[in-house]
Amino acid sequence: MRIAPGIHRIGNSSIINAYLVEEANEVTIVDAGVSGLYRDLPRELASMGRSIADVRALVLTHGHSDHIGFAERFRSDRHIPVSVHEADAALARGEVPNPSKGFGPTRLAPLTGFLWFSLLRGGLRTHHLGEVSTFGDGATLDLPGSPVVTLTPGHTPGSAVLHFRSLSALLIGDAFATYAVTTGARGPRIAPFTADAARALESLTLIEDVTADLVLPGHGDPWTGGVREAVRQVREAAASGR
Ligand SMILES: [Zn+2]
Repeated sequence: MRIAPGIHRIGNSSIINAYLVEEANEVTIVDAGVSGLYRDLPRELASMGRSIADVRALVLTHGHSDHIGFAERFRSDRHIPVSVHEADAALARGEVPNPSKGFGPTRLAPLTGFLWFSLLRGGLRTHHLGEVSTFGDGATLDLPGSPVVTLTPGHTPGSAVLHFRSLSALLIGDAFATYAVTTGARGPRIAPFTADAARALESLTLIEDVTADLVLPGHGDPWTGGVREAVRQVREAAASGR
């Protein structure tokens, strides 16, 4: 689905998001969702007038299984480099357990929807990365769109936000979400499965001054109300226990 000029999301659902970012006819994929999204990738690229041959890289915002989805298959099939912040490399390779502390509060219907969405798209067949490149905090990645990295630990130790300045887009992974897959709550808030919520909230000070027309989360719809307002709403929701 087209989100903005040069930015698509794989598919129409915003439960688990993988984004395609284009610059000068080349594409960077941000997050690989669950493995079944792979089958939708060619069609999404075609709708941008591009093909798999135009993809230069796949960048992961963090190492959770609902973000690394088709990354290993893509890397081995297409010899496309996959990268993640160095603090999440072991998680992406499956060498350490998921640091998150379970589901938190849940509501049955949305949680079932999330699990069902995952299940239908191979969410139980995630392959960890055999190889993954790493980047550090503050890096400008030499990839289509030249994203600038800000490390925002909390959801996972190596959760990173990617700022595509030329597209005025901030791809935040699960630094916060606009849809809580476990409760169905909409609006900016700390994402479910966050390892250290206090740290995640603290990390938001690192991005709140960024100017971006579009904030694109790992779960939920695009946010167009500005980064500062989104962060304010995340804090408000956290303070009131939502
Ligand atoms: Zn996620």
